Amino acid sequence: MVNHTSGSLAAAAAAAAAMTNDSLFDTALPPLPSYSLEPTGDVFPWISDFWLSLLLPVAVYWAMSLFFHAVDVLDLFPQYRLHTPDEILKRNHASRYEVARDVVIQQVIQVVTGAALAITEPAEMKGKSEYDVAVWATRLRLAQRAVPGLLSALGLNATVLSKSLSVSHPLLAAALAGGYYPVSVTAQSAAPGFAPWELAVAKLIYHVLVPGLQFFIAVFILDTWQYFLHRLMHMNRWLYTTFHSRHHRLYVPYAYGALYNHPLEGFLLDTLGAGIAFKVTGMTVRQGTCFFAFSTIKTVDDHCGYSFPWDPLQLITSNNAAYHDIHHQTWGIKTNFSQPFFTFWDGLLNTKYKGSRSNRVAEKKREAKSK
Ligand SMILES: [Zn+2]
Ligand SMILES: [Zn+2]
Repeated sequence: MVNHTSGSLAAAAAAAAAMTNDSLFDTALPPLPSYSLEPTGDVFPWISDFWLSLLLPVAVYWAMSLFFHAVDVLDLFPQYRLHTPDEILKRNHASRYEVARDVVIQQVIQVVTGAALAITEPAEMKGKSEYDVAVWATRLRLAQRAVPGLLSALGLNATVLSKSLSVSHPLLAAALAGGYYPVSVTAQSAAPGFAPWELAVAKLIYHVLVPGLQFFIAVFILDTWQYFLHRLMHMNRWLYTTFHSRHHRLYVPYAYGALYNHPLEGFLLDTLGAGIAFKVTGMTVRQGTCFFAFSTIKTVDDHCGYSFPWDPLQLITSNNAAYHDIHHQTWGIKTNFSQPFFTFWDGLLNTKYKGSRSNRVAEKKREAKSK
């Protein structure tokens, strides 16, 4: 009996609403869904996200270095070498053992710092994504409220436009009218809802655009941090001789020499730089893990000693092994400070190497033949 009464009340309310033209459209903002939070689970059952974020960068560093080391030792692609194997032995001022040892020391510092930062972080929770998508959909709806005003500023009448499109393109008509959608489009329940396109765009923003933007800002922060600190290390004699000259003992870089640094420099340049980029962009631990692993892969690739035409990492930006190799040469050491991703700071501040390089093995051979 009660159900019947409330049912007929609802029907009466709907009929009354249909009588006035206004209530055919959602004028109120759709309500945000409720949510309940629970701790985010781990990506893999055999390792916690905490340990994954600390150990993956170390694992990819050595896996990738091992690959390039095999390419070097087995001499698989001599045509793409930047230097001869002989040069690695003769020109470098650090033994392979010293390099590996110092890299391990830096990685221990990196893991300890990362652990200290991660422990002080609040536990990450999930369950809010539907709510956050609805927040973006609400922002889209509010942005549409400005459309009629913008159209009239352009001399167009939003009401006339909207009416003329209301049959052929009802969603477009509603957006032009300021985001007032017919109830028939948005109503899933009694409450007003979002148009399908609003939810689709909101999902795209939340799941793709925002994480993509965070990644690019982090890349920019790390590049900026490293460029200026690196350049400072070359401008100040004390800083250079005390710290940075160690990395430059490698005149002929090879993959696992990428993180061969004085421990304090390694901490400042790589660990702190990546940590700041992670914090400022508000990444989740999983996003941070991908970012740390990717920048590690990039810096190993920049020191690999090969100029491969098919290596995607060497193709996405002009900052690659050949570019950074110039910085490791006596004739190029005052140029090409940019690392690890883009070269725009070198371009902007006029520190890009402008001469032609002549130490690539294939080029040398070609030159010798033509003589
Ligand atoms: Zn340098
Ligand atoms: Zn280097």
